[in-house]
Amino acid sequence: MKLRAAHYSGIRGKLLEDAVLAPFTWFRVGGAADLLFLPQDVEDLQEFLRQTPADTPITVLGAASNVILRDGGVEGVVVRLTPPFGQIAIEGTKVVAGAAALDLKVAQAAAKAGVAGLEFFSGVPGAIGGALRMNAGCYDAETKDVLVEARAVDRTGEIVTMTVDDFGYSYRHSEAPDELIFIEATFEGRLDEPEAVLERMAALRQRREDAQPIREKTGGSTFANPDPPGTPDQRKSWQLIDAAGMRGARKGGAQVSEKHCNFLINMGDATAADIEGLGEDVRAAVRATAGVDLRWEIKRIGRAT
Ligand SMILES: Cc1cc2nc3c(=O)[nH]c(=O)nc-3n(C[C@H](O)[C@H](O)[C@H](O)COP(=O)(O)OP(=O)(O)OC[C@H]3O[C@@H](n4cnc5c(N)ncnc54)[C@H](O)[C@@H]3O)c2cc1C
Repeated sequence: MKLRAAHYSGIRGKLLEDAVLAPFTWFRVGGAADLLFLPQDVEDLQEFLRQTPADTPITVLGAASNVILRDGGVEGVVVRLTPPFGQIAIEGTKVVAGAAALDLKVAQAAAKAGVAGLEFFSGVPGAIGGALRMNAGCYDAETKDVLVEARAVDRTGEIVTMTVDDFGYSYRHSEAPDELIFIEATFEGRLDEPEAVLERMAALRQRREDAQPIREKTGGSTFANPDPPGTPDQRKSWQLIDAAGMRGARKGGAQVSEKHCNFLINMGDATAADIEGLGEDVRAAVRATAGVDLRWEIKRIGRAT
């Protein structure tokens, strides 16, 4: 039976039943959440978690730039952090950012304050919660390089503090328990001239604009590279996909990007099943031609139809 808003009492944030989520996702696909919760602040989130039955699945969404939300919707509760969770404060070289702060905003705030090292965040279109979960990064810099510690709320509503070592980070992956909802991160950069930091950020963004379909309905890199960075002769997913002849391949309204073939695109009327199915076609083609099992980097969430 679906969990309904009436189960809760004294919750100040919004509780929305059968809430359509597709408009909030980068791919613009997917079904409804049984229940969507938009907490007003940390205490509200804690109280909500205390009242949520232990067997109810809880899914957190940030900017939904790294997810395929399936057509059958999401069972249980979806939590989306609200603007009060998006504050950014800078003291010296320390940057404290709420989990709902967009990575770009954090990079811009750091640059303005003359703090270097967080430039790479300007190239990642997600929010800080997703960056913590995915060890987001680009061009040889990633979240783990600048993270000091993060705060989260666990299933029982307790606040948990984790140091960077507790995350067990590897390439685009963390070992942090799935149940944690991150609420805040502390990063450490280094002092530099704001103009120099802003210049590096602009160059980085131009490089991405040239190489990636960043204005499309997409989910970013679909598959993790099979070899970690630094491996001699590192195999890249896009090269394997290209060699398998899948650049530009289609399924329903979904297409493998012509510009960067590790990106899948919703051409306008794709379903989540089209996009995920096309991804599986790509995996099968790469398996057949190169004997490599590509690992999904994009999270696939919810019920298939
Ligand atoms: C055009 C484009 C380019 C991209 N380029 C890059 C890139 O260069 N480098 C890169 O690393 N990524 C890239 N991505 C992928 C994506 O932006 C990152 O993975 C980003 O960190 C995801 O953040 P998000 O807020 O959108 O997370 P979501 O997509 O909403 O969620 C991703 C995962 O994080 C979890 N999560 C989100 N918020 C929280 C929270 N508060 N607490 C606990 N778990 C949470 C979700 O449950 C889910 O498992 C790109 C995406 C697009 C669309």
